[in-house]
Amino acid sequence: MGAPEETYFTPVVPMDFTYNYRVGPYITRYLDGFKDKKILGSRCPGCGLVAVPPRKYCGVCNKVMEEMVEVGQEGTLENFTVGHVTIEKGRLAPAEAPYVLGLVKLEEATSALLARVGGIAPSEVRTGMKVKAVWKDEAAGDYDDLDHFEPV
Ligand SMILES: [Zn+2]
Repeated sequence: MGAPEETYFTPVVPMDFTYNYRVGPYITRYLDGFKDKKILGSRCPGCGLVAVPPRKYCGVCNKVMEEMVEVGQEGTLENFTVGHVTIEKGRLAPAEAPYVLGLVKLEEATSALLARVGGIAPSEVRTGMKVKAVWKDEAAGDYDDLDHFEPV
């Protein structure tokens, strides 16, 4: 007798729908900053934490963070992963080429920003490397304006 037969459940969940996400006043101001190619964060009046993207409440001391501050365009790559697939409308597909998603801690920021890392082969990317923001030529106040980060 062989091993007991196991049953696997493999759900297929295609998602194809229009989704409107209300970003709220903090992300609205963040994206307004993108029009001028500025990166904004919110500063905590209690502990001084600067959150990027900005958010209303400090995750450390729970105070309301009303002050918006501009942070630097350069930062440190805190961590990263190399992607080999894309997902669009719930369907996985092989990526045209491996790509890097990183957590970038910008100058003057306390938190790290999730962003694409480019201008470097994925095999050359290292944690701790200095990176800088690369903007699209025409900034319109969209998430995509901040295209990626590349090595300084
Ligand atoms: Zn705080």
